[in-house]
Amino acid sequence: MTPKRSSRQQPAAACPCGLAETYEQCCGRLHRGEAAAPTAETLMRSRYSAFVRRDEPYLLRTWHPRTRPARVDFDPGMRWTGLEILATTDGSAFHTTGTVTFRASFRGGSLHERSRFERVGGAWVYLDGEFLD
Ligand SMILES: [Zn+2]
Repeated sequence: MTPKRSSRQQPAAACPCGLAETYEQCCGRLHRGEAAAPTAETLMRSRYSAFVRRDEPYLLRTWHPRTRPARVDFDPGMRWTGLEILATTDGSAFHTTGTVTFRASFRGGSLHERSRFERVGGAWVYLDGEFLD
């Protein structure tokens, strides 16, 4: 049998968060509520992807109730180009707090931040962050 090459399918794009999985298999599962982030780093990655996709409901529900804004103002000119996790402290399945230091790149610059995460009702949420550099 000769395999037919009738369809010219695009290879599925890697997830915006930088992992090799497709978006559907990676952050998409968290955005759709099918899975919960097991670590602070996973939550950080999924929130970056949510910024890329402008998923405001996901960003708000993964924001600590104490620091959550009323809404997320997306900059329409912002084009995110990549995420690099530089360091993490705690934030594993055995912790209730954790930090993730990362560099998020966008067209024309990058953002270097250390974010703090906490568990609320068992789920990791973003508390706040400080800019570095
Ligand atoms: Zn992802």
